[in-house]
Amino acid sequence: MVIENIAHISNRCYPLRRSVDRRSWLKMYGFLNRVTALGIATIADAMVCAKTDSSRLRTLVLLLVILCCAQTGYAQYPPADFSRNPFLLGVPVDLAVPKPPVAFQGTDRKFHLVYELHITNFSKVDLVLRQLDVLDDSSGSALASYSGKELRGRLQNLAGRTANQTLSSGTGAVVFIWLDFTDAANTQRLRHRLQLAAPAFSRFGLQTVEGGSTQVTGEARVIGPPLRGGEWWAALGPSNHSGHRRTLIAVDGKARIPERYATDWAKEQNGEILKGDPSKNSSYFGYGAEVLAVADGTVVSVLDGLPENRPEGQSYPVPMNLKNVGGNNIILDIGQHQFAFYAHLQPHTIRVNMGDHVVRGQVLALIGNSGNATGPHLHFQLSDTNSELGTEGLPFMIDSVELIGNASGEKISLLPRPEVLNRVLPLEDDIVRFP
Ligand SMILES: [Zn+2]
Repeated sequence: MVIENIAHISNRCYPLRRSVDRRSWLKMYGFLNRVTALGIATIADAMVCAKTDSSRLRTLVLLLVILCCAQTGYAQYPPADFSRNPFLLGVPVDLAVPKPPVAFQGTDRKFHLVYELHITNFSKVDLVLRQLDVLDDSSGSALASYSGKELRGRLQNLAGRTANQTLSSGTGAVVFIWLDFTDAANTQRLRHRLQLAAPAFSRFGLQTVEGGSTQVTGEARVIGPPLRGGEWWAALGPSNHSGHRRTLIAVDGKARIPERYATDWAKEQNGEILKGDPSKNSSYFGYGAEVLAVADGTVVSVLDGLPENRPEGQSYPVPMNLKNVGGNNIILDIGQHQFAFYAHLQPHTIRVNMGDHVVRGQVLALIGNSGNATGPHLHFQLSDTNSELGTEGLPFMIDSVELIGNASGEKISLLPRPEVLNRVLPLEDDIVRFP
């Protein structure tokens, strides 16, 4: 109502020009001190409308008075006091999923979505994470809930160390998420609901925030095997706790998980990976095995000539750096922005050159023990850029593998009968035979 009156006055250009006396000024000033922006607009209108110099001068003085009083008026309010309430503007955390998940089927015959939720505490107080729910974005139903030990087991700080549920002011943590589905994942989009509390402000109780929405991006690529025959042990293969999965590396100004689905393939026989002298590479069953192109593609990176390590040695023959950490290695561009990385190869056994086109099943090199390796094995991964570590690991499924058993700790459990599985990703510690 009052605002309408002011607009009316302003539009007519009348009362201020004809009858602005001390009382009406004070009346105007009292109102405009509360509605400053509208008042300034009104007075500015009046200045335009005022016909005489004296009335313009009076209007200008009024405008200055209003501005001064407005300042004084605002200065009377104390600043918003976050020291009394860290949740004054809601829950001050950022939830983000840097790499959206891609659905794949594992040798456990389940479908999986694997990704990380990054949580950053932007408040000035420590926060304790109580529960994280993963929600189907369209239905809102909870696909998984983690709290207590379940949550702690998935938490890691940015330096790769185990984190507890307390997120200190100004710090971040990563939740490693691995979802299981019995059928092909129908979920198109995920989001997250986080419950937390500030111990220093227990009177506010549990707080809830939702965020970290992410798309599920299609299904994993189907490729051929990187090796033939077997039995091959999927050491540090895909699981939510493997060393590869948990290695978050900042390279070239970006933090990524290049080895999210990587495996160190070692050949085994009756639960052993070597026979004879363990300090000789030639004692290991996998040493010298042929490494195969998993798909048609182009060779986009080759490093050869690095000396091999002595198994169980105490130091590397060459100092490790970003370039040689994979030892003698090959990267294939297999199309669709996907790259296959083969590491730790025997020196001078690489049979391809930069720019060569290769076909699926073609022999690329022999397994060795070069780079950051303690024994002969093939480190194999698929990722999204032509880089060893400055890249995000991608899931894949091998079109046919024979699952023989599983190596858990020192113990090998063999299936009563091997199972041929199609379009699956071998999981951590599987023992498989390739065609
Ligand atoms: Zn590896």
